Amino acid sequence: MAETNMPQTAKATMPCNTELGFTTRAIHHGYDPVGFSGAVQPPVFLTSTYGFPNVEANEAAAAMGGMLYAREYNPTTEILEKRLANLEGAEAGLILASGMAAFGTLTLSLLSQGDELIVHRTLYPNTVAMLENGLPRFGIKVVPVDLSDPANLDAVITERTCLVYFETPVNPVCEVLDIAAISSRAHAAGVRVAVDSTFASPALQRPLEHGADLVLHSLTKYINGHGDVLGGALLGDGETIHKLHENGLRYITGAALSPMAAMLVLRGLKTLPLRMERHGATALAVAQMLAAHPAVAWVSYPFLPSHPGYAIARKQMANGSGMMALGLHAGFEGARRMMDRLRVITRAVSLGDAESLVTHPASLTRARLSIREDAHMIDGVGDDLIRLSIGLEDEADLLHDLDQALARV
Ligand SMILES: *Cc1c(COP(=O)(O)O)cnc(C)c1O
Repeated sequence: MAETNMPQTAKATMPCNTELGFTTRAIHHGYDPVGFSGAVQPPVFLTSTYGFPNVEANEAAAAMGGMLYAREYNPTTEILEKRLANLEGAEAGLILASGMAAFGTLTLSLLSQGDELIVHRTLYPNTVAMLENGLPRFGIKVVPVDLSDPANLDAVITERTCLVYFETPVNPVCEVLDIAAISSRAHAAGVRVAVDSTFASPALQRPLEHGADLVLHSLTKYINGHGDVLGGALLGDGETIHKLHENGLRYITGAALSPMAAMLVLRGLKTLPLRMERHGATALAVAQMLAAHPAVAWVSYPFLPSHPGYAIARKQMANGSGMMALGLHAGFEGARRMMDRLRVITRAVSLGDAESLVTHPASLTRARLSIREDAHMIDGVGDDLIRLSIGLEDEADLLHDLDQALARV
């Protein structure tokens, strides 16, 4: 990566390396107040361009790449890139305007006409839209497969396969895929693996430690955590991230994040480990309550021992997040009745916020049909599925809210 032109001074005050704990690094890594007027909080550099003392310095910056203009370089955003890369255990990171901007930048930078992309059959719906309506228009072949059995990879990998892409836990079904098993099969065929780790965050799961090559995050969710920003990130080896920066962000997507948003994500990131602890503890209590409720047909929460991916979850995640899916015996209509009765939990898409949120994908898909006739349910997602993002409210209030909503479904 290019060296920065931000003020550089002695790094002695806060030795930010991997010997420090995760939470300490989430608060300090990549920023030293010395050299920034002693400002304890990173300044927000709201500038679109950078002036240089002379032509030679201007040329030197151009030769190093990406330091002339705010689409390619911003000091506030760079702190976030360094911090997130450190927390994921990656050499480098690239911040983008949203999770979808990260996915677009990834695929449009690394794949060309004739290349093949293998994906798990169930994914975030807008990622599926990109796979169905976006990439094929550019001659990129998308091959969906069920990666819950990693052996299924072997039959679909070809000479043209460039990348394997999946989420774990999977949105919205909360299925867990085995990062190490999928990565070793892909690597045996010389194919790289990118994991969307949005449902876990680096506080709970670091896919690179299990053999993945690249990680994607929607910062909009747990990493920012406060529901007030859109953002995305790609983390991985320095060479690939440099390419994604120099080709992808610079001129293919141009999807730069505002430095103001970068500052908000840096603020949210400081409490990520604390928040994830609380999300996980409350979500487990909620999942246990739902699993024992007579109106509930099934619950998918990776840290319930009854979950099919429990052993894999324990192997590759520190704990569960706040995400779970459930279905009622009363099915599609029951889901709608239950949701309408909730008083504390908010009916809203998105996830990872302080507020508990609930969505019913089948209702939303049905509504979308009026404006998009190709709207359809994602493979693996049933009509009854309710997705819960358990927030940071008092556990007793959430249990009570769900209990009263389930009383007459
Ligand atoms: C939300 C989400 C995205 C897309 O992120 P945006 O920031 O909304 O663009 C991608 N993957 C997963 C798993 C998500 O939940």
